[in-house]
Amino acid sequence: MARTVLKFGGTSVADLERISHVADIVAHRASKGEKLAVIVSAMSGETNKLVGLAKGAAGDALVGDEFDDEYDVVVASGEQVTSGLLALSLRKRGLDARSWLGWQMRMKTREGHGAARIDGFDEDSGLGAAIDTGQIAVIAGFQGVTEEGRVSTLGRGGSDTTAVAVAAALGSVPCDIYTDVDGVYTTDPRIVPQARRLERVSYEEMLEMASLGAKVLQTRSVELAMNHQVPLRVLSSFSGPEADNPGTWICNEDEIVEKQVVNGVTYSRDEAKVTLYGMEDKPGTSANLFALLAREGVNVDMIVQANARGEDRANMVFTCTSSDSEKAQRVLEANSDAVSFDKMDVARDVAKVSVVGVGMKSHTGVAETMFDALASKNINIDVISTSEIKISVLIDADYTELAVRALHTAFDLDAT
Ligand code: ASP
Ligand code: MG
Repeated sequence: MARTVLKFGGTSVADLERISHVADIVAHRASKGEKLAVIVSAMSGETNKLVGLAKGAAGDALVGDEFDDEYDVVVASGEQVTSGLLALSLRKRGLDARSWLGWQMRMKTREGHGAARIDGFDEDSGLGAAIDTGQIAVIAGFQGVTEEGRVSTLGRGGSDTTAVAVAAALGSVPCDIYTDVDGVYTTDPRIVPQARRLERVSYEEMLEMASLGAKVLQTRSVELAMNHQVPLRVLSSFSGPEADNPGTWICNEDEIVEKQVVNGVTYSRDEAKVTLYGMEDKPGTSANLFALLAREGVNVDMIVQANARGEDRANMVFTCTSSDSEKAQRVLEANSDAVSFDKMDVARDVAKVSVVGVGMKSHTGVAETMFDALASKNINIDVISTSEIKISVLIDADYTELAVRALHTAFDLDAT
């Protein structure tokens, strides 16, 4: 009895033909004796459409907390449709299958609507027992139920997290994320045709890569997989059901034999840089500033503070997403009494480029190689930030592709 979780994203269930292909894949896996829980996203484009409808009905009010429970009712419906369609398609093949909605499996969530956090599902719901009898559970991703019994959703891309949460609850069983690419690549193949599929990548690296702009998996799903030791794999749903389809395994670092210093180059264009000149240089200034931004829901990424000319003055630079930067600008302008500065500058024509690799923990010279490669292309570095396993730089957005290509080559990642 091998329980396995499969997840199919929006492009994999984009229309009836694709759903039928997914049913072939699921049928093939079931024929090998696997006990399957299958999570599905909404058909591609459907969630955007539903978000648009909800906004159209609610207007600006949707921004507040008041309506977001009904927003969830609307946007969760996309996954209900695909779970039913795939269950039908499996039954047509003579297989025992049924759909499960978030409330039916009691997929409990907390922290409100729109971007709820999963607590896990209720074993008493009978899901585990059902799949052990050989019935295929087709689960609507992205949705859950609050303590009050209301429908909730997990934030965009949340079906990945549903899949990992189900795999964790079923006993940390393997979780295959089927998507429209055949694995995790060293970088975006649209920018670097020599990008390579990685056979294995550690949870830690994947977490950095997911949050730094590699859009394969929702960051939260990788976090959850790491915490519950769920073996995760990304693979293509576009190859034949029986094709050799190794994908990329996301696993513990010690399961990776050949460690590269750098495993991936990522980029994000959805960045903005806010500079505050002439802040007061005294205890509490940063605390006040970032408390204000946090209260407004602005997610701050890089932070650099430096002394400014003039006594007791400092300049502060921070980055956030472009859309958050508008919020930041608004709240800082409105609260100049609480947080004072001489001048604010907001630049949105910036991009963040990063190199990621667990090998960095034990290797020196990574920063040197990175900065050299950028200098050789005449790319100016604006802000730098590092962690144990990544180095990020903020550069002029126009140079994003050039930088990614130069770094991919400099760290020997190009396929031969
Ligand atoms: N359908 C949802 C979205 O588009 C959830 C998902 O696909 O993972 O964000
Ligand atoms: Mg996705």
